Amino acid sequence: MSAQILDGKAIAFDIRQQIKHQVEKRGQNGKRPPGLAVILVGDNPASQVYVRNKRRACEEVGFHSELHQLSGDTPQQELLDLIDHLNAQENIDGILVQLPLPRQIDEEAVIERILPTKDVDGFHPYNVGRLVLRMPLLRPCTPKGVMTLIERTGEQIEGMDAVIIGQSNIVGRPMALELLAARCTITVCHSRTQYLPEKVRNADILVAAVGRPRFVQAEWIKKGAIVIDVGINRDEDGKLVGDVDFDTVKDKAGWITPVPGGVGPMTIASLLENTLQAAELHSNQA
Ligand code: NAP
Repeated sequence: MSAQILDGKAIAFDIRQQIKHQVEKRGQNGKRPPGLAVILVGDNPASQVYVRNKRRACEEVGFHSELHQLSGDTPQQELLDLIDHLNAQENIDGILVQLPLPRQIDEEAVIERILPTKDVDGFHPYNVGRLVLRMPLLRPCTPKGVMTLIERTGEQIEGMDAVIIGQSNIVGRPMALELLAARCTITVCHSRTQYLPEKVRNADILVAAVGRPRFVQAEWIKKGAIVIDVGINRDEDGKLVGDVDFDTVKDKAGWITPVPGGVGPMTIASLLENTLQAAELHSNQA
């Protein structure tokens, strides 16, 4: 039997409609639209596409959005000064610095400069720390989007075995914290993990965030598992594919996300949710 498809594109559309409605309600209550400032340093083509998609989503739901485009040789101090300026701007609730940054700029210093209540990517150590302590504020977007997808299965995941392949700061690690907070038993795998297929065979929930085309094989999958594919890769023919061999794994899994149209749209939906949440925080502080 073939797995049920977790249609991230459709679920993200629903979320955007709900957010749009909440923005309209804010307006009726005399509150300004949530504001997102996006900073793009340099001209990385993939980053330009991501930024364009994020800004388009903001416009669709009625947010104020602004793009600050800086040249690739911008000194770190100039970027930090811009963040200070945006931290102080009352109409800006979220600041997103598109990664990766050019070599002369220290990513950690930049992330830490953003006010934690404006850190809508959820990458600031303050927000990561709150997630560790099970008192999340602004949650990292991709893992948050994955949790929304898993909730949409309607399965009770408490006590399930969850395996995450990948331990990056933006996906694997916060993903593990999210699933632990949901009371799963977690195993985090990485490039030094031994007997990876055996570990994956145990997984009721598998999250693949590796960055290798069709890396996860059907033989590794427990029958009926929830399989979430975070990967975005080009295969040898230039086709956009995930980290999971979708065509074979779908016959083994219970639920599976496609690539494209799975986790990707959910990441942007989570960014919008975080920006709205930040706007509400700031309205309550005002
Ligand atoms: P990353 O920083 O490169 O991390 C990749 C992780 O995979 C690392 O922890 C690495 O282990 C592990 N790994 C590499 N080879 C492995 C192997 N053979 N066996 C087991 N583990 C292995 O990547 P990332 O930023 O987390 O992104 C992962 C993928 O998700 C990429 O394809 C990226 O494009 C995609 N992505 C998608 C979204 C979205 O919205 N859909 C968002 C973010 C990222 P080590 O730590 O030991 O090196």
